[in-house]
Amino acid sequence: MRIGIDLDDVIAVCAVPYLRKFAERFRVDLPDEDIGWQLLDEMDDRVSAEQRDRFRMDLYNGPFFGELDVYEDAPEALERMVGAGHELYFITARAERRRVVTETWLREKGLIEHAKAVHLKPQGDFVPTTRGKYDATGSAVYKVRLAAELSLDAFCEDDELISRSLAESGVRVWLFDQPWNREVAHPLIERVTGWSDVIAALGIA
Ligand SMILES: [Mg+2]
Repeated sequence: MRIGIDLDDVIAVCAVPYLRKFAERFRVDLPDEDIGWQLLDEMDDRVSAEQRDRFRMDLYNGPFFGELDVYEDAPEALERMVGAGHELYFITARAERRRVVTETWLREKGLIEHAKAVHLKPQGDFVPTTRGKYDATGSAVYKVRLAAELSLDAFCEDDELISRSLAESGVRVWLFDQPWNREVAHPLIERVTGWSDVIAALGIA
């Protein structure tokens, strides 16, 4: 199979460190569990949209992406997938200007050699978004287009809108279960708890 693989919250542990830094910066409390992107939607009365946008840009312009941890079971799973003959493509909605930090990180973590290519979102794909909130619309358009161009059979993803868009375009999705994606359901979307479920689904566990 030809398989697209998202990075943030699929390969890289991203939402938790982001929210922890956000909470530290704006002195807001986080719950003990289910820390995730859905919490940002509840910050309207605490932190302005402008402040949230500024925080995100400053964080992403710093060392953030180069310091993320990898999900523990990801490296071996990717190795098995490649060993079984599957073709892997890292496809992230991170902007193209994050390529150096992204590829350096993938190399340091020993992951880049498993992929046929690393795709980041071209700057031209920018779609105006609701201020202060992540809007996945442009990312969904980008990933659906790439899935078609690369003739992908399946995609590993955590975002609801992107997963639904991929499924509606006929691409099978392994949806990595997260507190912010519990609503989505589609015949082509299979919810997984992590990489062990993906390799089990591929029959290579
Ligand atoms: Mg993601």
